[in-house]
Amino acid sequence: MKYLDPKADLTVKKVFGEHPTLIMTHILIIEDEQRVAELLKNGLEESGYQTMVAYDGDMGLRLFRTHTFQLIISDIILPKTNGLDLCREIRRINPAVPILMLTALGSTDDKLDGFDAGADDYMVKPFDFRELYARIRALLKRGSSPVPEPPVELNYADLHIDLPGKQVTRAGIPVKLSPKEYNLLLYMTENPERVLSRMEIAEQVWNTHFDTGTNFIDVYINYLRKKIDRDFPTKLIHTRQGMGFVLSDKQAEEI
Ligand code: CA
Repeated sequence: MKYLDPKADLTVKKVFGEHPTLIMTHILIIEDEQRVAELLKNGLEESGYQTMVAYDGDMGLRLFRTHTFQLIISDIILPKTNGLDLCREIRRINPAVPILMLTALGSTDDKLDGFDAGADDYMVKPFDFRELYARIRALLKRGSSPVPEPPVELNYADLHIDLPGKQVTRAGIPVKLSPKEYNLLLYMTENPERVLSRMEIAEQVWNTHFDTGTNFIDVYINYLRKKIDRDFPTKLIHTRQGMGFVLSDKQAEEI
């Protein structure tokens, strides 16, 4: 594959470098091919953008959840969560953030899949940096109309999470959680009524892979139960034997 050296195009660099509104534009790059990721990162940063790089879909989603970006550039074939599923998930969380798919898959069907998943634009590798910049600029211009603020709260049943303040209440009663308990509850509340395996929880909340044989997740689930469920008639945290845990306000037999 052949990529144009971004430094070679001084005109593009100059235009971007002098554009004051681009100074704080944050771009999330999700690309597992390290060489391409580096090229994108270096090229975009030289043009005045701030970037973060994720090397797989799960990491991309994690960064998206924890930072604010004005644009997402994502590959499609990615380890763990693929680019299309990732795109759908980002769209669910934020309908407005521009998403540019950048991929070796170039058939019309592939492009349509990308647009179906909620992508705003699509570029096939190998790409020309000048074209990439032009598309980024167009997407940012389009997206500069009111962008919804990131969510400030999350609600499930009578559970309320104030995201900026990291405060949790159940039925209006404040619940004091440790940072790990909070992160675990946040992850479960972001994925209600879905069985979450211990492996998934370990990866998403603890950012770690682990082999079977440790029960620290069960320990934290128990801590959470004491604080979230013990004093309330409707239990929200349920164990699915051999599968994991689920946050739900339905009775155990219904889920
Ligand atoms: Ca890839």
